[in-house]
Amino acid sequence: MTEYSSLIYETIGPVARIWLNRPAQRNAQDTALLTELDQAMNLAQADEGVRVIILAAKGAHFSAGHDLKSAENDGQGYSVEERYAFEKKYYFDTAMRFWDSPKPTIAAVQGACVAAGFMLANMCDLVVVADDAFFSDPVVNLFGAVAVEVLVHPQVLGMRKAKDLLFTGRRMGAQEALDCGMASRLVPVAELESATLELANQIAKAPPFALKLVKRSLHRTLDLQGFRAGLDAHFDSHQLGHVSNEFAEKTRAGLTGVLAKKPGA
Ligand code: ZN
Repeated sequence: MTEYSSLIYETIGPVARIWLNRPAQRNAQDTALLTELDQAMNLAQADEGVRVIILAAKGAHFSAGHDLKSAENDGQGYSVEERYAFEKKYYFDTAMRFWDSPKPTIAAVQGACVAAGFMLANMCDLVVVADDAFFSDPVVNLFGAVAVEVLVHPQVLGMRKAKDLLFTGRRMGAQEALDCGMASRLVPVAELESATLELANQIAKAPPFALKLVKRSLHRTLDLQGFRAGLDAHFDSHQLGHVSNEFAEKTRAGLTGVLAKKPGA
């Protein structure tokens, strides 16, 4: 087991499990955590014994999103170019490493799975949700931001529900996540860890080369429909949102100030 400052990396037979490990911060993602995620993915990809990767989270919540305290500090005074480079490296590319992982990935989600938490969990191939999990991307309403950096929403929710959640900023519960196809399995929270591991072990029995190629084919099917071009285009629109007057007005008191007024977000 390798322990990082913000993650735990462990292998259990053919399964690598990466735990987000900032429970006191509801696993808010700061640059240290995102850097470690990248390193953990390097380890998992390089280890020939690893067939499947689980992304889980310690504590009551999967992830409340980007660490706005850290984003605020990092982002203040950024030029357009600097913010673009920062968000591309830490937010977009780190998330896409899970999407592009040649090895199957499974997210195990409990509690809050919000904004960049939603983004990261949905970069995984399968998503197992606990009955207490809830999902939202409230940043349009809260910040005047143009959703999160990777617009995976229509792909995993369907277009109608993606609009519903993004326009209103509302929460979606675990049952709704299962019903719309975003969640692969719904289990009691006490069984989240064992159910996810069981699923991972089942997948680990499949021939790895065939698995890798079938994932490639599935993703190529999406890419031929324009999926990746859509993500790239959205990233640019998202950056435009960061320099809008609406974003400036909503975040004048500071991003964490906005959140403090909306503790449920
Ligand atoms: Zn952003």
